[in-house]
Amino acid sequence: MERPVRVRFAPSPTGPLHIGGVRTALYNYLFARQHKGTMILRIEDTDSQRFVPGAEEYILESLKWCGIQIDEGVGVGGPHAPYRQSERREIYLKYALQLVEAGWAYYAFDTAEELEALRHEAEARGEAFAYNYAVREKLATSLALPAEEVRARIDRGDQWVIRFKMPENRLVEMDDLIRGHVEVNTSTLDDKVLYKSADALPTYHLANIVDDHLMEVSHVIRGEEWLPSLPLHYLLYEAFGWKESQPAFAHLPLLLKPTGGGKLSKRDGDKMGFPVFPLFWKSPKTGETARGYREDGYFPEAFINMLALLGWNPGTEQEIFSMQELIDNFSLERVSKSGARFQPDKARWFNAQYMHHKTNAELAAVYQPILREHGIEVSDERAGEAAGIMKERAQLITDLWDLTSFFFVAPDSYEEKQTRKYWKGDNPRILREVREVLASIDDFSKEHTEEVVHAWIEEKGYGMGQVMNSLRLALVGAGKGPGMYDVTAFIGKDECLRRIDRILEVLPAAE
Ligand code: GLU
Repeated sequence: MERPVRVRFAPSPTGPLHIGGVRTALYNYLFARQHKGTMILRIEDTDSQRFVPGAEEYILESLKWCGIQIDEGVGVGGPHAPYRQSERREIYLKYALQLVEAGWAYYAFDTAEELEALRHEAEARGEAFAYNYAVREKLATSLALPAEEVRARIDRGDQWVIRFKMPENRLVEMDDLIRGHVEVNTSTLDDKVLYKSADALPTYHLANIVDDHLMEVSHVIRGEEWLPSLPLHYLLYEAFGWKESQPAFAHLPLLLKPTGGGKLSKRDGDKMGFPVFPLFWKSPKTGETARGYREDGYFPEAFINMLALLGWNPGTEQEIFSMQELIDNFSLERVSKSGARFQPDKARWFNAQYMHHKTNAELAAVYQPILREHGIEVSDERAGEAAGIMKERAQLITDLWDLTSFFFVAPDSYEEKQTRKYWKGDNPRILREVREVLASIDDFSKEHTEEVVHAWIEEKGYGMGQVMNSLRLALVGAGKGPGMYDVTAFIGKDECLRRIDRILEVLPAAE
């Protein structure tokens, strides 16, 4: 029988979740859903020094905003609870000791100062210090010291760690679902710490492997930065005797800077004006803030669509994918080996595509909070209608206010350049006449108003621009906006007349 698909997203709560992390979560989710499998959320918080309060909540909220649903794990529960590693601390020592027993690991008693000295000595010789097969039998380890002394040191409370005994000169052959076959000679690797007595906690490597095993994870889909750890992880499965149930591995390509070289960082975002985090973040330690896609005015569906295509290509020209379409089409085989360059323009483009297809009701839902922030209380219908008229010109939700504020607020000043250009000659006088024409119209619908005003312009022999430009100045205060009759119909007759009266009052009829 084929093994049920169980994948996990296993972030460490060390700060806000980078969009690369969101993409990892997304690919896990798509893979799980496509295979009718289970998506697990495990919080890897065994590094107490790097723990940041609020980071876990941020991760949960980000996944929720993105529509990535967790089936099992932190916040949901499940048969392997708890899913927060700090709450599983009793589990790991047993496994570390099992490896010592089997000769795959050993105790090491070196203090931080001793290690520092070793590093310095090596540096003086122009070498880099590595804790490995060459030194482990010469240092304060259970491989070098007599058994009684090891016992005595442990009993009297000396601090120790358990290190993995990386074999010397062995070729580890690995398979990655994205990268294919990979080989590494173990002599290039060091003896990683698996467990520390100081805080009675495992390190990432041990906790990660033990939990993947206990939680019956079938596929590990994670960032490329973990590829160098893969030989160790392979050997840990061997050392525990878990080879048969070892998960398959897939290492995802990095997200690169818009300029190409190097990993996408927060600094790139700050420099070029785009977020690298899903949500706004404020560091509880330093008070430092980072902008987020949500607050910058992106739809979660657009954000997800954009992220999905950063590293995966569907093999067709299709660019717009709903979550369900992503689930149906995703495949690890089509994830690229090379890094995916992040393009801020493309992110905005995706959002614009979603914006243009939103109904007025959907637009109202996202626009109302912004209107309220500006002190505007209107019905959903009015909010949606205004946004709907201008949506073709908007890329981000946050563009909407600039594009539509004149629907709700009369201009309190008039753009200088437009005024100079159009508020001259006969125009103010003609606008006074337009006012009377508008005042005489009962059916103020877009079509009817247009018909009446145009017929009148023709009859009078005025230039269309002569009339329209100063009318726009009066109603909008600037040279922007939609068709003039969209504005008149939206604000209504009384407001039109008020705005015309006001410009005639405040702007002297020049020349
Ligand atoms: N806790 C690791 C991280 O923060 C998880 C790596 C893995 O998925 O194995 O990325």
